[in-house]
Amino acid sequence: MLKIKNLHASIEGKEILKGINLEVKAGEVHAIMGPNGSGKSTLASVLAGREDYEVDKGEIDFDGKDLLDLAAEERAREGVFLAFQYPIEIPGVSTTNFMKTALNQVREYRGLEPLDAVSFLKIMKEKMQLVEIDQSLLSRSLNEGFSGGEKKRNEIFQMAMLEPKLSILDETDSGLDIDALKIVANGVNKLKSKDNATIVVTHYQRLLDYIVPDFVHVLYNGRIVKSGNKDLALELEEKGYDWIKEEANATA
Ligand code: ADP
Ligand code: MG
Ligand code: MG
Repeated sequence: MLKIKNLHASIEGKEILKGINLEVKAGEVHAIMGPNGSGKSTLASVLAGREDYEVDKGEIDFDGKDLLDLAAEERAREGVFLAFQYPIEIPGVSTTNFMKTALNQVREYRGLEPLDAVSFLKIMKEKMQLVEIDQSLLSRSLNEGFSGGEKKRNEIFQMAMLEPKLSILDETDSGLDIDALKIVANGVNKLKSKDNATIVVTHYQRLLDYIVPDFVHVLYNGRIVKSGNKDLALELEEKGYDWIKEEANATA
């Protein structure tokens, strides 16, 4: 589904990603871990097509398309979903109305008829149950005054509604409380299918107690310096990142 080859990216002239190689197949969950400032959020942002990042070199193939040719909105319509990084607040626009617009845009792009009110509500009900989100949250203005946990729940709900092929979740360094963590994990686990894939960016191992990744990659200084299975996350929890840094610096 996703093939990243020798990706180099910079921001304000500073090189952040220094040759990322990563392959994600449908049905897989990949975790990207690594110390602060190693480029995890940069990688997520570059995949989503945020404009402040400059791609200097490399290729990103998504389902046979050159992702780097597509604008952020086009990537979203192709089925790339970036969650959590900068939860936006839209005063006066309810989550319900926002979702209806977003979903119908995606459907139009996929060559499907827009949903009428009745069908939309039916789908919304199904997905609400799936991610255990409350009706009252959906009638409030998007993210306005939402608690951390409510924002996460809402993002997972958006993910459930839009059925992306590739979801990228960037936990950010602020961290989630245990309830928010479980919401995110349950959502990801329930939405997992053989046709979609998830990249979970996380600083901490604890999220991976709830989401079991198929692969774990350590990003350090703009490169993936180690890959393994879920045991690698446990090893990192136990030993920290210093040994990774030493290994990487020794071979650099
Ligand atoms: P991580 O998510 O792994 O903590 P980031 O991708 O957020 O790392 O950041 C990687 C590096 O890029 C850091 O050194 C950070 O200071 C730098 N960086 C990130 N965003 C900006 C920005 N907007 N302007 C300048 N430098 C930035
Ligand atoms: Mg950071
Ligand atoms: Mg980050």
